[in-house]
Amino acid sequence: MNKEHHYRQIRDPRGRFGHGRGRSSGRGRGRGRGRGSFQKQRFIRTPPPYSLAAPTPAQRRAALLERNKEKKHCPNETDYLTIAVEGCAHGALDQIYEAISAEEARTQVKVDLLICCGDFQALRNELDFATLAVPDKFKVLGDFHKYYSGEKKAPVPTLFIGGNHEASAYMQELFYGGWAAENVYFMGAANCIQFGGVRIAGLSGIFKERDHDMGRYEVPPYDASSLRSVYHVRNVEVYRLAQLLEPIDVMISHDWPRGITNEKYGNVQDLMKKKPFFRQEIEKNALGSPANEFLLHTLQPTYWFSAHLHVKFQAAVQHVNEMYVDKPYKQSPLQSTAESPKKMETTGSTEFVGLESDGQCITSLTQQMTKFLSLDKCLPRRQFLQILKVPRPSSESGKKPKFRYDLEWLTLLRKTHHLSSSMRRHIAMPMTAQPVSNVEKEETLKLVSNHLPGTGHEDDILCIPSNFQVTAPPHPIESKCYAQNNIETANPQTDQILSMLNLTHIITKSVHRNNDMNEIDLESDIDERNDDSPLFANVRNNHTCDDENEIVLSDGGSDGSDEVECKKRIRLVQ
Ligand SMILES: [Zn+2]
Repeated sequence: MNKEHHYRQIRDPRGRFGHGRGRSSGRGRGRGRGRGSFQKQRFIRTPPPYSLAAPTPAQRRAALLERNKEKKHCPNETDYLTIAVEGCAHGALDQIYEAISAEEARTQVKVDLLICCGDFQALRNELDFATLAVPDKFKVLGDFHKYYSGEKKAPVPTLFIGGNHEASAYMQELFYGGWAAENVYFMGAANCIQFGGVRIAGLSGIFKERDHDMGRYEVPPYDASSLRSVYHVRNVEVYRLAQLLEPIDVMISHDWPRGITNEKYGNVQDLMKKKPFFRQEIEKNALGSPANEFLLHTLQPTYWFSAHLHVKFQAAVQHVNEMYVDKPYKQSPLQSTAESPKKMETTGSTEFVGLESDGQCITSLTQQMTKFLSLDKCLPRRQFLQILKVPRPSSESGKKPKFRYDLEWLTLLRKTHHLSSSMRRHIAMPMTAQPVSNVEKEETLKLVSNHLPGTGHEDDILCIPSNFQVTAPPHPIESKCYAQNNIETANPQTDQILSMLNLTHIITKSVHRNNDMNEIDLESDIDERNDDSPLFANVRNNHTCDDENEIVLSDGGSDGSDEVECKKRIRLVQ
């Protein structure tokens, strides 16, 4: 059967998804000042909807009922994970772990997991600066290299997604997820894993319409264009996530879902008071990612955590069979269980609010609610960290929480692997949904059990092995033989995942590149990059100049300058 005939991108008839936070969004210096004028009003338009094929609500409900029947997923009121959520990390790992440890000492409650919502900046050495999209003067190595080299070990299991300020070559190495350092797990471009029975999905990067349908063609050394497009979200990953049938407890994205700033969901007036320059985008419903908006209403996770806009904002989205309920905003559950915010003694700056989930077993999708939380970056006097208690299944009671592969996700990877492309061209997604069947999941489990040692129990087989390996020299690099051009994007962990699932490298590289007969020849991509057709010329011309909004995110200063400021302030505090 010719797949081409069956694949079609479902999109707005105008062929656009809306602006997200791109160059047309109207925010920024010199733009939007004349808001309210006749001319400006004429051109404000409602952003178009975003859609990809996904399973129907009835299919999701059936999957939910099946899981509840097995009692494997049903959250248990009396057992929960204590999860610390961090906004942008920006390399300040030491500060984040110190803040957690101070809070643990204060409350006598151990944090089980730290989730970082992007801009993690996993810089291994100074060569990685060439893969980080920030101006040179703001390039700061940060703390990660100490955890990478083994000089320090993450005191809390740490899970992160990528944002728009990352060591992108390293992130490309671990495209399907993997250990970035011991006890520090990167989700990859998109993923769904389990930790202590809590199901966590994530999508790395930020939405940019022009790159959204493109193949993953970027390879280091990056030029000014690919340095940025490398972290733009692609339709394949969104499509893959949208096929998940089983319920998601926690979803992580760097940029916000578009539409989350609706007054029905959260205190938007307060947000606009804190960040007045968001007003125009909020009014146009152009703030945030259309892809995330689609996933929010499709997957309807219990929690959704984001970062990127460097401000704390919380909201509650009530889903009713994919329709949004028109309820006026009232205090969200995130706030309702919180007492007055308690100040952190160590920094005098971070708020920890004891957030409890209602702990009820979800029996119907009709009442499903998503609690959204976005946090600031790691700066004194900013709300960058929050601790929550998330119920976990009774089957996990008393067990030490571990990272596990998710069987449905692994099966989806196998089923949709052929959709991935390393070409610099538009890639269409199937016009039909492709949820996985139980038989397909059993096949995956068999494949995995052949590769990973285990006792034969499904949960044991799916444990993610502790197979972190150093792939680049840790800081400081003494030998000058490592040139920038030597940055490689192969990682044995990626080889292992693909080999475990019987898949070939399409957008990743094998560490045994020259010997790997299964690898698809990437030379053809180089031809694609040199293509001088008008389409590619257009992409190139637009690429280098209009990503300013991605860097200038904070009020007044850039990410980088704030980071420098952060370092100064932290030193003063110490
Ligand atoms: Zn950030």
